[in-house]
Amino acid sequence: MGQQATDKLQDPRPELIDPFGRAVTYLRVSVTDRCDLRCVYCMSEHMTFLPKKDVLSLEELDRLCTVFIEKGVRKIRLTGGEPLVRKNIMSFIRGLSRHLEGGALDEITITTNGTQLERYAEDLYAAGVRRINVSLDTLIAEKFKDVTRWGDIQKVFDGIKAAKEAGLHVKLNAVALKNFNEDELIPMLEWAHSKGHDLTFIETMPLGDIDGDRNDQYLPLSEVRKTLSAKFTLTDIPYKTGGPARYMRIEETGGRLGFITPLTHNFCESCNRVRVTCTGQLYMCLGQDDQKDLRAALRASEGNEVLSEAIDTAISRKPKGHDFIIDRDSKSTPVSRHMSVTGG
Ligand code: SAM
Ligand code: SF4
Repeated sequence: MGQQATDKLQDPRPELIDPFGRAVTYLRVSVTDRCDLRCVYCMSEHMTFLPKKDVLSLEELDRLCTVFIEKGVRKIRLTGGEPLVRKNIMSFIRGLSRHLEGGALDEITITTNGTQLERYAEDLYAAGVRRINVSLDTLIAEKFKDVTRWGDIQKVFDGIKAAKEAGLHVKLNAVALKNFNEDELIPMLEWAHSKGHDLTFIETMPLGDIDGDRNDQYLPLSEVRKTLSAKFTLTDIPYKTGGPARYMRIEETGGRLGFITPLTHNFCESCNRVRVTCTGQLYMCLGQDDQKDLRAALRASEGNEVLSEAIDTAISRKPKGHDFIIDRDSKSTPVSRHMSVTGG
């Protein structure tokens, strides 16, 4: 029997089970809505960020995560906005790592744009983080500047290098964007695999108003697969990281490539996760607007009973799936919040 299966048998915690029988074991926490970049598919150039008083304190975030862990969550991913721009983020992560040491939590991971990684890589490893996702949509400095509106790609390269040297397993995430990086996907794959990194391509999702038209950005990964198949041998593999990516091995490079395809392939049937924003709104589905305010529950009393009940209520409302659609006839963005609110 695998280690995880053994742990599960011995795990006395209740499970959070949704109405469709799926156990919620994975919590994504957006620790801030702020970011030092403004990626064109994620934010508009002039974002209005939340007033600080609305954002959960690090103590409140810790309490929230702890209650989820007590209710059976085994994996936490920190995201944002940019998680590494949140003040004192390392003391928060070090605090959470007590649950790793105690065995209640399997993993703390982080999704980052990489700009602050050079500074934090060693601290992250020391705090028990072993795997991180770094978002990078191009390898070309000028294009990086365009897509992030002002970012310096060298900082990200330095960050990735520092992370690897610190012992962190780095997976790269790239949003596949038409007329932007479709001609770069093969070089990115070769570069990532030559450095020993897994790579995941993500379809752009219709979340929040941006300055451009999403129809001009949407590149179905079914098309990307066809292009890659002309050059490489792609073998589907059952590798899983707890997220929604489906993986294949590229025989020529020996590396792994993941596809996250919310639009061309619905991955909801195996959904095991929920997302909480930095203001404590719990979203049961990335592609739906329904949410439960956990901040009110957190602040209602010093004990955790109200919070625990609020989580149960929310999970009982987890929907079967999302209704993402990008087409030229639909005028509005189906989900009004930006990705930086829930962190992907
Ligand atoms: N700032 C961090 C980063 O960029 O990795 C974490 C937050 S960011 C919102 C998380 C991931 O969502 C990134 O990989 C980003 O590329 C992706 N993302 C943002 N907006 C998206 C959209 N509309 N569709 C698909 N992916 C998106
Ligand atoms: Fe910031 Fe990440 Fe959104 Fe880019 S994708 S603007 S780095 S939150």
